[in-house]
Amino acid sequence: MTLAPLKNPDVRLEDRPLSEYTTFRLGAGCRGIIHCQTPAQLETTVQCLVKEKKKFILIGGGSNLVVSDEPLDCYVVRYCTNNPLITVNGTDVTVSGSTLLDDLALFAARNGLGGVEYATGIPGTVGGAVVGNAGAWGKQVGDVLTSAGLISPSGVKKTAGTKELGFAYRDSILKKTGDIVVSAVLSLRKGDAKALLEEREKILAERKAKHPDLRREPCAGSFFRNIDPTSQAGKRQAAGWFLEQAGGKTLEVGGAVIYPKHANIIVKANNCRSQDVYDLSLRMARIVKEKFNLDLVREVRFVGKFRGMPAGVREIIW
Ligand SMILES: Cc1cc2nc3c(=O)[nH]c(=O)nc-3n(C[C@H](O)[C@H](O)[C@H](O)COP(=O)(O)OP(=O)(O)OC[C@H]3O[C@@H](n4cnc5c(N)ncnc54)[C@H](O)[C@@H]3O)c2cc1C
Repeated sequence: MTLAPLKNPDVRLEDRPLSEYTTFRLGAGCRGIIHCQTPAQLETTVQCLVKEKKKFILIGGGSNLVVSDEPLDCYVVRYCTNNPLITVNGTDVTVSGSTLLDDLALFAARNGLGGVEYATGIPGTVGGAVVGNAGAWGKQVGDVLTSAGLISPSGVKKTAGTKELGFAYRDSILKKTGDIVVSAVLSLRKGDAKALLEEREKILAERKAKHPDLRREPCAGSFFRNIDPTSQAGKRQAAGWFLEQAGGKTLEVGGAVIYPKHANIIVKANNCRSQDVYDLSLRMARIVKEKFNLDLVREVRFVGKFRGMPAGVREIIW
């Protein structure tokens, strides 16, 4: 496996299953995984792939994905690093899209900067968080982001402000454009480091009590978005509540089971295949439709080919 013009010697190309790079621990191989940690590595890589006309998709921490059991017919660029790339100017913070979101939250707390406490313990990268407007407890990344450095899938660099990014609940325009988040600028506020670090510990403890332990219970977090306020629910309500009321906690398909503490989380048990997760998610959506006439909207993204997908969807999908 080669990609000759990939000049940057720090960019690693490897042939491994994607299960090694997703929190669900699911997914076959692809044409090659290209590991990029810095903006410069990412830009070289995207430009090389575009020039060589190679098909690719981009992932971050792989914490919101179900990758198919069938290999992907494309390259996968993994933009993720364990070495936070963060610079501060007063209360403005510039961070690479590859930095882990929780590393950003820890950095901010240690440096007495408030505004991203809710991001504590959310898996994945800053880039993934910007695209999906990740958040918790009614707060999300889009609230504090002032601009993002982007690169389009065809290699064009640009900068976008908050308005252009079209943030909505767990959504941004980037899901449609496919632009890659190279870096982000966040406007934070002065706070007390000690208090912020105490708050962090509380949030971590709360998340530990509620969420699966990824080492033993691989998953991709909440499967469906909470219900929009415009729906019959009146105000935004937890999709997990509807699922539980509809009997969702007892559902399972093959090795895909529901997390006992949360009806909206699918967990990988023994011999689980990605197809099991796909089939189980359809059943979950069906029981809520039947009981409440509500259409659940998926938060987790599927990648690759799955049996039973609507006709015409046979390529890489989200
Ligand atoms: C245990 C657990 C708990 C979770 N809790 C929460 C929570 O409280 N709140 C919440 O919002 N989410 C939560 N999630 C979901 C997940 O962590 C977030 O959606 C996260 O922001 C995804 O980031 P990622 O880097 O892992 O993205 P990936 O899963 O790698 O990718 C997801 C999508 O983002 C795109 N993407 C990734 N990086 C970039 C980039 N740099 N530029 C452009 N596109 C990119 C990918 O192409 C893909 O379409 C949880 C997940 C788990 C497993």
